[in-house]
Amino acid sequence: MKYRSFIGLEVHIHLLTKTKVFCGCRSVFGDEPNTNICPVCLGYPGVLPALNIEAMRMGCMVARAMNCRIPETTWFERKQYFYPDMTKNYQISQFASPLGQEGWMELEGKGRSASIKKRVRIKECHLEEDAGKMIHTGTASLLDYNRAGVSLLEIVTEPDMETGEEAELFIQQLRRTVRYLGVCDGNMEEGSLRADANVSINFPGKGLGKKVEIKNLNSSRFVRLGLDYEIVRQGELLDQGREVIQETRLWNENRDETAPMRTKENAQDYRYFPEPDLPVFCPDAVFLKSVEDSLTELPLKRVKRIVADYGLTEEQADLICEEKAQADYFEAAVKEARAQGLETKDAALRIANFLLVDVKHILHREGIPPSDIGTLKLTAKRLASLSVLIAGGTVSGKNGKQTLEVILAEDREPETIVKERGWEQLTDPAKIAETVQAVFAEEQATVAELRSSLIGGNAKRTHTLTAYLVGRVLAATNGRADPKIAGTQIEKRIGTGE
Ligand SMILES: [Zn+2]
Repeated sequence: MKYRSFIGLEVHIHLLTKTKVFCGCRSVFGDEPNTNICPVCLGYPGVLPALNIEAMRMGCMVARAMNCRIPETTWFERKQYFYPDMTKNYQISQFASPLGQEGWMELEGKGRSASIKKRVRIKECHLEEDAGKMIHTGTASLLDYNRAGVSLLEIVTEPDMETGEEAELFIQQLRRTVRYLGVCDGNMEEGSLRADANVSINFPGKGLGKKVEIKNLNSSRFVRLGLDYEIVRQGELLDQGREVIQETRLWNENRDETAPMRTKENAQDYRYFPEPDLPVFCPDAVFLKSVEDSLTELPLKRVKRIVADYGLTEEQADLICEEKAQADYFEAAVKEARAQGLETKDAALRIANFLLVDVKHILHREGIPPSDIGTLKLTAKRLASLSVLIAGGTVSGKNGKQTLEVILAEDREPETIVKERGWEQLTDPAKIAETVQAVFAEEQATVAELRSSLIGGNAKRTHTLTAYLVGRVLAATNGRADPKIAGTQIEKRIGTGE
């Protein structure tokens, strides 16, 4: 590569506080416009903001999950600018002493073209209020202030990433982390997680270059596409001996390109000064302990532990850990299957396969998000019992899958269902031999062909024909016959020449 690129991200997340950050208004997405508003979040003169301590606590949780230091004192500033969606003409934010400082996140995972492993430094995490929302219609612009004053945490990285796919992975990993912590739903379409990206390129060893900020990146994919586009665009400018202009550009998702929006403001343009209406916040030992206590096992760590403890592949563990609820379900099911006598790795593999294929399909079909896996009638305990029945040969894999559907429909235990429907697997060789005999009588042409392919040494054809006959035996026993025993009995009968 001729140039080096430097990518930094500014990620805004809506904290899941019940009320807004400086007033008691409800904080929720999708309500009727302008119903969750009061004099404080509308910025009436003379009102007093009051800090929502829960927002501060959640913000500090994210900061600690990003390995940031929480300073002894943290406070708020006013960031002055005019925009119709912000009636105060200033935003209460943090500038000089944000609640989280100088951390890092280990970026690790499969990128699109290569696996990625690097440490991304976190400059800071700061708490602020969100602005309202402008809705542009054909002839007018409408304003909804429900979002004004909603708790917003901004996570700012150092320019440590180099490609669009690294930035994409960062967003995905951060999203998973804040969802694990339960502080943000991570919904990018609804705007509860938004990212702006800074990117510059330069000749190696020549420093950072002129920075361009890209806005309007409302999916992690757009983050990647926008950055990759911008790296190419800036490279072409430098190739021609021209300069990159420091500016803010908008990502256009319909044209797959960025376009200039405005030249970038500097910090001094905002004329930050300490917010006089809010006291300095000094986190005490009790507060700090409550933050540390609420940090759960983070996703990356959990993936590694699941690989080590259960012998799954990195890819399986990663898919299972996509949602905390799903990882919890998996571990609960394995624990139960072990209690019922299965060996750990066997149990884990069976349950992982069910989870990543059949249960995933069911969730998709029923329109249930994986985070609500706990609401399924197919509980972790029932999935474990079913796995035990299959492992022990009581029910075939095929009827096991049918049992799965009946559990969902009838809300009953797998053992009862298998018994009632007569789905217990047939393992008696003599009984299966009788069925084989009957199938041979009906399938004389196939049997003759199988014999000649055996004599001719046509292994592929032999395999296909045997599999067909096994299928016929299974069908004749309502799927109850053990396919292995059926195969042996077929071989035996062919051998006798009958
Ligand atoms: Zn309010």
